[in-house]
Amino acid sequence: GDRGPEKEIPFSKPGSLTRVFAVASGKGGVGKSSVTVNLAAAMASQGLKVGVVDADIYGHSVPRMLGVSERPTKVEDMIMPPVAHDIKVISVGMFKPEGNTPVVWRGPMLDRALYQFLTDVFWGDLDVLLLDLPPGTGDIAISVAQRLPTAEILVVTTPQQAAAEVAERAGSIAAQTHQQIAGVIENMAWLPCPHCDERISVFGEGGGQSVADALTRTLGSRVPLLGQVPIDMRLREGGDEGKPLVLTDPEAPAAAELRRIAAGL
Ligand code: ADP
Repeated sequence: GDRGPEKEIPFSKPGSLTRVFAVASGKGGVGKSSVTVNLAAAMASQGLKVGVVDADIYGHSVPRMLGVSERPTKVEDMIMPPVAHDIKVISVGMFKPEGNTPVVWRGPMLDRALYQFLTDVFWGDLDVLLLDLPPGTGDIAISVAQRLPTAEILVVTTPQQAAAEVAERAGSIAAQTHQQIAGVIENMAWLPCPHCDERISVFGEGGGQSVADALTRTLGSRVPLLGQVPIDMRLREGGDEGKPLVLTDPEAPAAAELRRIAAGL
């Protein structure tokens, strides 16, 4: 049916002061959502006004990782997002029908949802908006490129070469749609040995750097490796408990690295 004229997306207006980061990964399980919520929490604790859109239709784990259980409320025509740790949060999971009916998100539906999240949600004046994208190179990447042409892509990968190759492909899509790639974050980079100073390369080595190098070649401009986040059980526990590690133990090496990355963006 006729939906009427399209509303303008505040974040893509010329002169918008909100920086938009779309967090992407080649495949699931590399820690894209964990990185997103910890970067968001680190930025909010620096005093920035931060919003997160959880567009990961397969995972939508952002609300749990931030400890959000409430649904958005409606005021007039606006959707009021729940707030946790000073972060405004909207998730595709908040709009699923009650019960466990699985939703098949097709491209146009996902595009519509993204558009609604951007136009109908009361974000206020944000300094930063982070989008947690679904893994892979799906339709949403194209939607983001069209709806938010100024969004900068953050690519998350593990050190594993196989993961790095798919991450590289995800990044190449951004290059084709002329989006800027802010950089690459290598997650689960190593496990600190509990008994000595050694780093155990559980998932191999070099994936983050090789994605950054490959994207640099594809784009013809330098794509930096922004940081390497070690494996830390407490990062996972913090996610399960809705308390990001950057807030509960900011000096833990994984948290310190995520805070350093956030401060440098
Ligand atoms: P994705 O969003 O890429 O699917 P998640 O952020 O959901 O990945 O992470 C997958 C799992 O790995 C989660 O249980 C999360 O808590 C855990 N995890 C992510 N990063 C780390 C890390 N650096 N150290 C320990 N566990 C991690």
